Amino acid sequence: MTDSPTETATETAKDAEPTFRGDVTVELVKHSAADSDVLWAARVSTAGEQSLEEITKDPERSKGLINYLMRDRHGSPFEHNSMTFFISAPIFVFREFMRHRVGWSYNEESGRYRELQPVFYVPDAERKLVQEGRPGKYVFVEGTDAQHELTTRVMENTYREAYEAYQEMLAAGVAREVARSVLPVGLFSSMYATCNARSLMHFLGLRTQHEQAAVPSFPQREIEMVGEKMEAEWAKLMPLTYAAFNKNGRVAP
Ligand SMILES: Cc1cc2nc3c(=O)[nH]c(=O)nc-3n(C[C@H](O)[C@H](O)[C@H](O)COP(=O)(O)OP(=O)(O)OC[C@H]3O[C@@H](n4cnc5c(N)ncnc54)[C@H](O)[C@@H]3O)c2cc1C
Repeated sequence: MTDSPTETATETAKDAEPTFRGDVTVELVKHSAADSDVLWAARVSTAGEQSLEEITKDPERSKGLINYLMRDRHGSPFEHNSMTFFISAPIFVFREFMRHRVGWSYNEESGRYRELQPVFYVPDAERKLVQEGRPGKYVFVEGTDAQHELTTRVMENTYREAYEAYQEMLAAGVAREVARSVLPVGLFSSMYATCNARSLMHFLGLRTQHEQAAVPSFPQREIEMVGEKMEAEWAKLMPLTYAAFNKNGRVAP
């Protein structure tokens, strides 16, 4: 989270040894989200004040209603819920993430008010390294051991050098907001992201690959890693909505 200057004045990463990560963090920190929120919103149009009581009466009917709303793209009943995630991921993931404007709220840690910590992204052994094909038709294939070794070595060396330059400027009294210019997009940042089921479905439709997707997307693997973790949390909160999303081709209503 963004901290105030006074709270963080004592924080320092001086002499901190860089750490390298190939994973991302996603934690559901707060939520008010259930399938009943969708049903309540949908039925209020016909049942008025009685709608909350109607929800539990007939589970099969409720499931059918959610599926109908999803299939026919009646989207607004899926907005009456909220999920707040803490996410820690490389800056290049956040650049892509924050393109999602509708139904999302963001707050990211500040590089002006606190000294940025030396945590950097290095792909792990499972990350397919080699891109083949043309734009829109990319295929990613395994890298060789030599390519993995090169990637790890070059990234780590570059990150160390960049972070040393950052610290050298801070030590000389240069402002954090100026010195951070030398830090690469592989640096980890953290944010709170709040969404609802409708905006999350739109995000997942674009930022994950899935066998049930009617409209395949080809996201970068690292934002997909974030999306998969968010999806797992959401599926537990709203199982009927989640099932209907998959059944109807993972297209947001
Ligand atoms: C695989 C992939 C590759 C990408 N590559 C690039 C790239 O090379 N360069 C790049 O710049 N971006 C790229 N993007 C980002 C992409 O263009 C979108 O900005 C991003 O996916 C967010 O989608 P969105 O606008 O639908 O979402 P949101 O901003 O959340 O909007 C949701 C929906 O609201 C409506 N909406 C929102 N704003 C407007 C508006 N101003 N006018 C009309 N309707 C609106 C639209 O229906 C939209 O789908 C890529 C995305 C993906 C998934």
